[in-house]
Amino acid sequence: MKRLVRLLLIVLLGVMVVVVGRTLLLPPAAYNNAPVSLPEGLDAQRAAESLSAVIRLPTLSHQVGAPASQLAASDAAFAGLRDWLAQRYPQVTANTEPLNTGSPSILLRWPGKDSQLPAALLMAHQDVVPVAPGTEALWTHPPFSGAIAEGFVWGRGAIDSKGSMVAILEAVETLIAQGFQPQRDVLLAFGHDEEIGGHHGNRRIAAQLQEQEQGKRLAWVSDEGGFVVRGQIPGVSQDVAVVGIAEKGYVSLTLTANAQGGHSSQPPAFDETAIGRLSQALQRVGDAPFQRGFDGPTGDLLASFTPAQAFGYRLIFANLWLFGPLVEQQLAASPAGAAQLQTSLSPTLLRAGIKENVLPPSARATLNLRIHPRDSIERVTEHVRHAVADEQIQIKVMPGGREPSAVSDVRGEAYQQFAEVIHQSFSNTLVSPNLTVGGTDSRYYEPLTDNIFRFSPLLMAREDLPRMHGTNERVGVETLANASGFYYRLLQGLNTSAN
Ligand SMILES: [Zn+2]
Repeated sequence: MKRLVRLLLIVLLGVMVVVVGRTLLLPPAAYNNAPVSLPEGLDAQRAAESLSAVIRLPTLSHQVGAPASQLAASDAAFAGLRDWLAQRYPQVTANTEPLNTGSPSILLRWPGKDSQLPAALLMAHQDVVPVAPGTEALWTHPPFSGAIAEGFVWGRGAIDSKGSMVAILEAVETLIAQGFQPQRDVLLAFGHDEEIGGHHGNRRIAAQLQEQEQGKRLAWVSDEGGFVVRGQIPGVSQDVAVVGIAEKGYVSLTLTANAQGGHSSQPPAFDETAIGRLSQALQRVGDAPFQRGFDGPTGDLLASFTPAQAFGYRLIFANLWLFGPLVEQQLAASPAGAAQLQTSLSPTLLRAGIKENVLPPSARATLNLRIHPRDSIERVTEHVRHAVADEQIQIKVMPGGREPSAVSDVRGEAYQQFAEVIHQSFSNTLVSPNLTVGGTDSRYYEPLTDNIFRFSPLLMAREDLPRMHGTNERVGVETLANASGFYYRLLQGLNTSAN
């Protein structure tokens, strides 16, 4: 007995040594605590006025079939934006070549000193989502006023993503005026239909580039994605710049149950009615979670902030071999955490029945899934089929699905350089890769590059996030200027590194 106790103590001690050792041996957290200043030549007030002007152009993207008057108004706004850009950015206009995109989407090529090198592509989108009817009056300043007040530029698109577009243009205009020419070509792509899928904008531009460039690749692509967030990671006091290195896939499945139908006074057994059968199948799907794990971008995310965590948290996150299940459970408890760990499934549509006293002959549910890079459309469909375990339920894959993206390499030189520019542009800030859970237009460029970085260089407080697509969207004047500083350094860095 004594020997057993002694043995247990030795084992326990060994575990403690490993746990503490792994915690203490982590490399120090990487961040820059020197203050950051705006590069010479950039002007915060001018950038704010540029964003204000572009917000006043209501460049809404509409689904096919929208009323002609709405489409005409948007067309006029996109034309207005093109004219405004030419006037506001004379250096950009004189020193770049526009591609004929056949749509209001804009693609500009800024020739580098050596056009044989793979080009770099900076993206943002011109289009914005509408303001939900009935919420206009809740705005402190009207959504298309572009008001500059209380230190912010207010209006739809300020965050998503006219702010980035203006920040890119201000940086390029300034660099050209200062006589800078990039080593490689720089492409600027401003889509006009990102919010409705990008099918006529960036999808076509990417196809056009592929055709014209005949196999020439892009060094890297930068598009909207994560922000610089504050106070959102447990035990981390620094801000965290979140860079999407992969994008989830997307698919919708329909589940259909067929039954006899008839009068509701003498129904068959519950599970033989269409609705009963379907609801039981849905419950089984809900009870069958997708695989979770710390592989891929999720593991890279945890590894990036662990060294900066307070000791208690660091001890846990540095020892996932022991505390993995605990961390997984904690993460999975929030929808945002769960979305990083696994494929998500949302029941979004239900259709059955026409009258309260008639049994419907069929019932149909739609499930919307966002696919983790470890899964595929085929795998998640199989997972659902297996969970349903009822051959009489028809499962169909809806058109319009897409596989998850490839994962950009965080150890590669392009990412390292991108992270370095973030450090130069944001004081006291960690750089963390993650998985982008929504879709971005950058996916269309996947055949052309291995490096896609989804990052909007804007510092966002937690309470700012719902402003995107919501009420009182705004961006700080200093925040916007700092974003143009980020793009300025990113472009400048093209001539001082291999990227
Ligand atoms: Zn967006």
